[in-house]
Amino acid sequence: MYIKIAMHRHESIIKYFSLATIVIASEIFISLPFFSCVKVKNSPPAVTANLTHLCHTDVQENQWKYIVIHHSATAKGNAARFDDYHRNKRRWEYGLAYHFVVGNGSLSGDGEIEVAERWKKQIHGAHTANMECNRVAIGICLVGDFENGGRPTGKQFESLVELVQYLSRRYNIPLSNVLLHKQVHQKGTACPGKNFPFGELKTRLIQFASKEGDRTRKL
Ligand SMILES: [Zn+2]
Repeated sequence: MYIKIAMHRHESIIKYFSLATIVIASEIFISLPFFSCVKVKNSPPAVTANLTHLCHTDVQENQWKYIVIHHSATAKGNAARFDDYHRNKRRWEYGLAYHFVVGNGSLSGDGEIEVAERWKKQIHGAHTANMECNRVAIGICLVGDFENGGRPTGKQFESLVELVQYLSRRYNIPLSNVLLHKQVHQKGTACPGKNFPFGELKTRLIQFASKEGDRTRKL
């Protein structure tokens, strides 16, 4: 009798544990997809997070409509070096003509994005000879001379892609309004040089736009 009760208890315990194991396993299985979804939603890519931080301004934002890409036409440089030149040699009141400078590893990091005071204060650029364009065009300068043998570094190009994608989305700037300096009416500039891979940039932006479209449709 005692043995029978003990066995019965033993069976019950086994049954209880088996049931508990199935319940816990099912919960893990069911909750895994939800957990991974939540995780993705709450963790934007690191670069986007950095750009959100970098591009933050405390003033009212300008209605940017264009992005104009430049090269510095120098092998070396950074935002401080160009700011000094524009402020002290050119005597431009607000200094550095661009809103962003993307480094090539010479005087700033390879692919490092430096943000100008013009951006922080949301002031017009001084990067084209067309003032109407400057009022609504974000100026991005890549350090390097892409007309005389130089090319953007891999990291520099990737940073540019990320930056242009980010700004295009933030200000609803269409691909047709992402321009090279030489496309903006101005006499005699080759900027950003014949070696600037504009076709590759456009391909990357089109791929990004179609992925964004897919993502938006799924939401
Ligand atoms: Zn230029």
